[in-house]
Parts: sequence; structure tokens; C-alpha cells
Amino acid sequence: MSHTAKPTGFSTRAIHHGYHPAEHHGALVPPIYTSATYAFPDAAYGGRCFAGTESGYFYSRVGNPTLNLLEARLASLEEGVGAVVFGSGMGAISATLWSMLQQGDEVLADLTLYGCTFSLLNHGLPQFGVRVRHVDMTDLQAVAQAIGPDTRVVYFETPANPNMRLVDIAAVSRIAHQAGAKVVVDNTYCTPYLQRPLTLGADVSVHSATKYLGGHGDLMAGAAIFADPELALRVRVFGLKDMTGAVMSSQDAHLVMRGLKTLTLRMDRHCQSAQKVAELLHRHPATEQVYFPGLPDFPQYELARRQMSQFGGMVAFELHGGLAAGIRFMDALQLVTRAVSLGDAETLAQHPASMTHATYTAEERAVHGISEGLVRLSVGLEDPQDILEDVAQALEQAAQV
Ligand SMILES: *Cc1c(COP(=O)(O)O)cnc(C)c1O
Repeated sequence: MSHTAKPTGFSTRAIHHGYHPAEHHGALVPPIYTSATYAFPDAAYGGRCFAGTESGYFYSRVGNPTLNLLEARLASLEEGVGAVVFGSGMGAISATLWSMLQQGDEVLADLTLYGCTFSLLNHGLPQFGVRVRHVDMTDLQAVAQAIGPDTRVVYFETPANPNMRLVDIAAVSRIAHQAGAKVVVDNTYCTPYLQRPLTLGADVSVHSATKYLGGHGDLMAGAAIFADPELALRVRVFGLKDMTGAVMSSQDAHLVMRGLKTLTLRMDRHCQSAQKVAELLHRHPATEQVYFPGLPDFPQYELARRQMSQFGGMVAFELHGGLAAGIRFMDALQLVTRAVSLGDAETLAQHPASMTHATYTAEERAVHGISEGLVRLSVGLEDPQDILEDVAQALEQAAQV
């Protein structure tokens, strides 16, 4: 498959894209290049590398063959023209935004964002003269009204962490482009297997590869995938190399590529089990609200069906009895693990208001749609029956006061 032009499917590319064993002593698994630096055949060659007229490797913060292979694979899976990988999701997000913005520019962001992204936008970027405004991006008219002449970047997650709101990528991208702004979508919850923002009009797709892409909770990594090669280059030589230095280790690039080989199998299972957990929660009298795009009464069910190929592995919900009941639920869990992060083999439960979204003040959480009682589940790969039984018994205990 490697040397033919025949287009291949998603799983095939996740396993093979960009690598030819015959060029590496027949090694089935791509080598891990641990070298920080690279020998020049002569001094002039080194000078050309630094001048950019020679494309060879010279320093691993700028380029490394193992990282470059992962980048090629992610670009292929997400249907972008290029990708840059980072030492964490926040590394990817900060390097991308810092490469796209300057003093006086404005970012228009959705209401609900991952806690550290919210802090970067509201506390970090304003230190450098970038203004940030939030608008409810489920309301397209509100987006069109809020976008202004200084808006350079429109930023959102879909589904949003933690409350599962969706944003219509194609519609918001059309509005943004009409106003001359670029669109950055955090695609962590879906992975390119479930949703490909660039094919719907977005300019950049960013990921925490710590989550589903790595898939095993044993690494920190991030990625940005681009529709525009010039922006990809700028993020690499400026955002990554000079502004953040948030480089990924080659060992971790190897682990992310190992994770990618099973991405489709794992996501299928995450999605199937999450659907069952969401349905259990939905019919249980202890729950007040369940947020899962695959429930037919989810307000954006139609958008989910249009934009995502499956509904994902994340579920959020609120119990009657609010925060206190949510804490009782978490403490009653026996198999499900109390931990932040997501996308691992283990089913994880956490409380956003006191954990991942504690970067918001209580007032901010109220404005940005993160209720104090919300519990977030990352449904793992255990036997579905075991997950369901543990959730059911914890619901019973949470309901008893
Ligand atoms: C975890 C997460 C991030 C941050 O990624 P790190 O790898 O932890 O730096 C960004 N966005 C979303 C949606 C996340 O869940």
C-alpha cells in the first residue's frame, strides 16, 4: 500500500500512512529517533539548514523523523495539509493561538471551554493585548452579531468539555470567513475518526493527544492540524520553536502512533458503551439531566447526526440533589475511577466545577454553562455490563439521603 497511489481507508492510514518498512531494515515498527541534534556533512550544509534552503534535520525542537511521521499520519487522518505535534494539548493550543494573534486582535470564543483553555484566553492572552469575548455559539445569529473587524480567531470545542454542547462547524466557519476570521476547533472529544473539522470549513483542528489519540493514559501530547500550509509552517517555526518550545518527546510520538493503530476499534467501543451508560442514566429516576448527543431528546441531536459519525464516549449528567448528590455518586463508585482526564481504557468520573473547570470562578461557571452539580464520565473499555452495574449501584446510593 505504501508506494501506490490508491486511496486507503481511515484505519489503514492510521496503521500505515507515511511509513515503508523496506526503507528501515524491514522494521515493522517505525524507529524512535531520540537524537536531540543531527550531524552536518560539512559546515555549509549546516548553514543552509538554518537559512531554510536545506530541508535536512538539525535540531529536534524544529524537526524529528519520529515526530514528523506522527504529524503526517494525523494530517492524513484529519484531511489537513500539515500537522504539528506538541508536548501537551495546552502546548498545541497556546502555540497555535500565539502564532495567529497580535496586540489589538480579538478572539471570539464559545461560552464553554476546557478549564485551562478558558484561563489561557481570559488571563493569558489579555496580558499581551489580545481581547477575548465569549458568545453562545449554539446561536448562529449571536455569532454573526458578535464578530467584529478585529476578530482574527473564532475558537470553540464541539462537543464542549464538560457540558457536551455542540457547535455547527460548517455554519460558524462560513460566518467567520465572511468576516475575515480564522476558525480553530478543539476536536479532542471526537478524534478525526468521529469528526473532521477541516472538511467542514475550519482552518485548524487542535487536540489533546493525551486523551483518545494516545488512548492509554500514559503520556501527555498535543497536536494541531492545518488547512493552510503557511499557517502550519508559522506555528512550527514560531509557535513551537520560539514561543512555547512545547516539543513532544519521540518516545511519546511512538506511543501515540501505537494508540492510533487501535483508534477506530477503541472509539467504536467507547461510543457503544457510552450510549448504554447515557440511556441508563436517562431512564433512572435519580438523574435530573443527561447530556449526551446520542439521546434522541438531546437538543442538538440532529446536528450531532450531521456532523459526527458516532456520538462519542463522554457523558455528563446532573442528579436530583445537585452537588451533594453528585459527590455521593462519585464516592459510591467502585469500578469507575475518580480521576480527571478522559479517553482512557479505564472509565473515569470527575466533578468539573471543583476539578477540571476550577479555573472559572463560581460566577463564571454560572455564566458559561457549567453547573455546580455536573458529573462527567469518560466511558472506558471495560465490559459494558460491569460499567453499567457500577453506575447503577452508585446512582442508588446517591439517591438515598
Ligand atoms: C485535556 C484537554 C485539553 C488540554 O490538553 P492537555 O494534553 O492536558 O494539555 C484541551 N482541550 C480539551 C477539550 C481537553 O479535554
